[in-house]
Amino acid sequence: MSPNSATASDTTACCVFHVLARDAGSAEIAAAEAFEAGANGLEERAGVRGAECILVIYAPEPDVERVRRAVARGKGVESVGTAERCATVDWSTAWSSGLVPIVVSEELVVRPSCAPIALAPGQGELEIDPGLAFGTGGHESTRLALDLLAALPRALRRGATVLDVGTGSGVLALAALRLGAGRAIGFDLDAVAVGVAQENARRNGLAATVSLFAGSLDAVTARRFDVILANLLKREILPLAPALARHVGPGSQLLLSGLLQEDETEVLARFAPFGLHRCGARVLLDASGTTWLGLALSSGNDPLTR
Ligand code: SAH
Repeated sequence: MSPNSATASDTTACCVFHVLARDAGSAEIAAAEAFEAGANGLEERAGVRGAECILVIYAPEPDVERVRRAVARGKGVESVGTAERCATVDWSTAWSSGLVPIVVSEELVVRPSCAPIALAPGQGELEIDPGLAFGTGGHESTRLALDLLAALPRALRRGATVLDVGTGSGVLALAALRLGAGRAIGFDLDAVAVGVAQENARRNGLAATVSLFAGSLDAVTARRFDVILANLLKREILPLAPALARHVGPGSQLLLSGLLQEDETEVLARFAPFGLHRCGARVLLDASGTTWLGLALSSGNDPLTR
């Protein structure tokens, strides 16, 4: 399937939702079901999380719930996100954005470049185009990480040093900078993602304050960061626990996302021997009934502000 499978050639008001499929085969079947049920556009982001595939599916508003139900019945479909209205989609370019604006807080909106939104007074924005990288802002795990970040006390965010583990499109590192951080480092095992993140940094005028590289946590030489973000799957986070803990200092916050609610006990038990404990948490239910979890850990017990 090509990344651009949009079929409609007109400009139509419509809805968009995200689907997480276990593998490429399941994604193919889900895509076929979606078109059968009335979808008129689809973008696939393959291989962004191991074998899993993210589909971004568009459908006219009157048909979108039927399309979501059809997709949800598919074998290997792990979650189906809630549908959101997109104002107007030009199908000749929609595949390259595939997104709707996300209002993170009164301070920040994350949006694709093709979807301008009126900002509230004092609100900043971040333009993110994911290309082939994961990290639109729309996935539940990214939203949770953004929410935990925005909930940090302003004093902690201001001038903070930030480490973004598995940066994808760069969305979290760049959001941290927009929310007041002074300097960010982001890296990803996927070199394509890093190219996308660099482009997003330039697009937002943040290239001078973020360092992005393809590689692993071993390559990070700086010892301590004020905020460490890791939106990864549980099986990716657990082995990194000792190395992540080395970058946490007194007063630092380690924000973990990409977890499911049932992972909480196991994840906390893995970090406890390093003196890191839960100081905040957020959950988000997706349309399939899966509850995603974001956790804030620190060596103290200062709670998040909200
Ligand atoms: N931070 C983005 C992307 C999260 S998806 C967001 O919040 O939306 C997870 C990303 O982590 C993928 O791009 C994947 O390639 C990368 N990744 C997975 N394990 C990693 C590891 N051990 N080190 C660095 N990157 C990793």
